[in-house]
Amino acid sequence: MMKIKILHLYPDLLNLYGDKGNIECMRSRLERRGIEAQVVSYTCEDTGFDLSDVDIVFIGGGSDREQKIVCGRLLEHKNAIKDYAENGGVIVAVCGGYQLLGKYYRLEDETIEGLGILDIYTEQGKKRLIGNIVLEADFTDEKIVGFENHGGRTYIGDHKPLGRVLYGFGNDEKSGAEGVVYKNVVATYLHGPLLPKNPALCDHILTAAVKRADPDFTELAPLDDELEKKANEYIVNRFVK
Ligand code: GLN
Repeated sequence: MMKIKILHLYPDLLNLYGDKGNIECMRSRLERRGIEAQVVSYTCEDTGFDLSDVDIVFIGGGSDREQKIVCGRLLEHKNAIKDYAENGGVIVAVCGGYQLLGKYYRLEDETIEGLGILDIYTEQGKKRLIGNIVLEADFTDEKIVGFENHGGRTYIGDHKPLGRVLYGFGNDEKSGAEGVVYKNVVATYLHGPLLPKNPALCDHILTAAVKRADPDFTELAPLDDELEKKANEYIVNRFVK
C-alpha cells in the first residue's frame, strides 16, 4: 500500500482558525483512496529535523509573536527546506506560514527574517485585512473559498499567484492576486480550514505529492464531494454576483 507522510510544522504555535483541519482533510482524502496517510508533528519540543521521507509539509498561521518564534527556529533548517522545495517537495503554507517562506516580514518596529524559499516579502499595513474571500484559479473550475485575516501585505514579484481575487483582499489589497504557487509549494492567506471547503485544491496538492512518491501514478480516484461542493458554492453565491 502506498504511504504518504505529512509533516505538520509547529502545530503547537501555528494553528489559527483550525488550520489543523487541513491535515485531517488530506488524511481522509488519501485514506478514502486506499493510500495510507502518516501524520507526524514537529513541535517546539522536538529535535532531529528530517525531511528525507516527507511527502507533504504543512505550516499554518499564527500571531506575529508566534511567527517570530517559529521563524527563529526554522532558520536553522532553511537549507533543508529550500532543497526539499526545489526538489518538488510539497509544502502547504497558510498565512503566517506563507509569510515566513518569504525573505522578510517588516513590522512597525522590527523585521523578521524569513526562510527565503520564495522571492517575496511582507510588510505590515495599517488596517487588518479580514473577511471572506473567493478566488478563481487556473487549475480548476471550482472557485477557491476561504477566510483571511492578516495585517501583512505580501508582494510576490514575478511569482505566480494561487488565484485571482473575485471577492476579498488577497496578497496586498491592490494587485488582485492571492497566494503563490511555486513548483509544489502552495502558499496562501486563506484560513479555514481551507482544504475541506475546496476539494479540488486539496486533490491538486495530494496529486502532486502522490506523483512525486510514485512517478507512474496518474490520477486520484474521484470522491463523492456533493456536500463539500454545496458548502463551496454557498460561499461563492453569497459573495460573488
Ligand atoms: N501575523 C500575520 C499577520 O497578521 C499572520 C496572521 C495569521 O496567520 N493570521 O499578517
